[in-house]
Amino acid sequence: MSWYSEYLREIESAIEDQRRRIAIWRATSTIMKNKYNVLRSHPNIETIAKRIREVKIWSIDHLDELVKRAKDAIEDSGGYAYIARTSEEAIKIACKIVGEGKLIIKSKSMTCSEIDLDEHLIKKNNIIVETDLGERIIQLRGEKPSHIVVPAVHVPKEDVAELFSRITGRKLPPDIYILTQVAREMLRKYFMEADVGISGANAIVAETGTIFIVENEGNARFVTNAPPVHICIAGFEKIVPEMRDACDITTILAPYATGTVMPSYVSLITGPSKTADIELTPVVGVHGPKELHVILLDNGRTKMASDPQFKEALYCIRCGSCMNECPIYQVIDGTFGHKYFCGIGAIWTAFTSNDLSRAAAMAFTCTLCGRCTLACPLEINIPEMIISLRRVLIGKNLIASPHRTMVKNIIRFGDPHGAYQKYI
Ligand code: SF4
Ligand code: SF4
Repeated sequence: MSWYSEYLREIESAIEDQRRRIAIWRATSTIMKNKYNVLRSHPNIETIAKRIREVKIWSIDHLDELVKRAKDAIEDSGGYAYIARTSEEAIKIACKIVGEGKLIIKSKSMTCSEIDLDEHLIKKNNIIVETDLGERIIQLRGEKPSHIVVPAVHVPKEDVAELFSRITGRKLPPDIYILTQVAREMLRKYFMEADVGISGANAIVAETGTIFIVENEGNARFVTNAPPVHICIAGFEKIVPEMRDACDITTILAPYATGTVMPSYVSLITGPSKTADIELTPVVGVHGPKELHVILLDNGRTKMASDPQFKEALYCIRCGSCMNECPIYQVIDGTFGHKYFCGIGAIWTAFTSNDLSRAAAMAFTCTLCGRCTLACPLEINIPEMIISLRRVLIGKNLIASPHRTMVKNIIRFGDPHGAYQKYI
């Protein structure tokens, strides 16, 4: 089956799933309503977003310098820092640190999903437990996330109740409060028993090597604090020059991502856990991890940064606001994606994945309506990049068959619908 026919079947089955449509619509419309309320009551957020755009422009233009500074700062603070040029390199580094037969707890990380880290760790007999509630639901259902901020956005509460009932052996009602408490009970033991915690990062400060992690559930705090080893995997684009820049990213993330003024938790991690409380003798590893490993991932980012047509995609702070507003996402949700979603996801897929046909499917699904750009705190011009990407894809003969037919019809009949149209 061709990539296009396969994609078409996925779209058809996504459209047919009415319960899924309702779940997506409920979630995204609530987030959008809350976002606009927060932006109205806190007009300074948009001013901060404009400053962050300037910071991102500078940072992406000085990517090599920032990566080097971040690596040095992480090492100066007692952590281990690695530069992985490819996904394979990152996987190799992570697998070597983890070893075999370990219990790993994870907090939500798009970068881990980008490189398919889980499946490589599982091959080494490691057990992985996702601790973000949405990610855990997806993991237990054996599915892929359908949104970068709310990965289980497509799963109705009735299905979560059925899933948790099966696991716990108790008949649970579709009551969101009860289900959340059950998730808390189910996950707690893993937090205390895990050998390794793996997280992503929302920002990394080049000046100090500080990792910023933004969350609401509190699971990332356990992941980065309870096990003796913490591995953080972050793309180059997460590095910003100074603390103030990372703080500003934190300030705009929650309003655009979830429609709240501030996230419940912002963790700042600089080096491993340490003390000098006994005779002022420094010792590493007290209540937090003894080892902090930070893997800084390139995987196509340097190439993106050097291409004036696409470097703007690196300004993305992964807030998901564009997805909530995208009319296509409302209808087919995660099908309009791969590991990253919607128009911005098409650009990311083209640069970070080996599957260019999926990037083509996404690029030709976008209607170029521009709602994503209006919704984006960084004002990223997604339609313009999609047009550039289409040119690249056409050059590689990656064009869907109906488009090819339309082009032929225009050339032959001067009409995309062909000769038939002439006789209507
Ligand atoms: S331009 Fe494309 S990605 Fe953006 S909102 Fe419209 S359809 Fe969605
Ligand atoms: S493109 Fe903009 S709106 Fe979409 S996730 Fe990135 S920063 Fe957020």
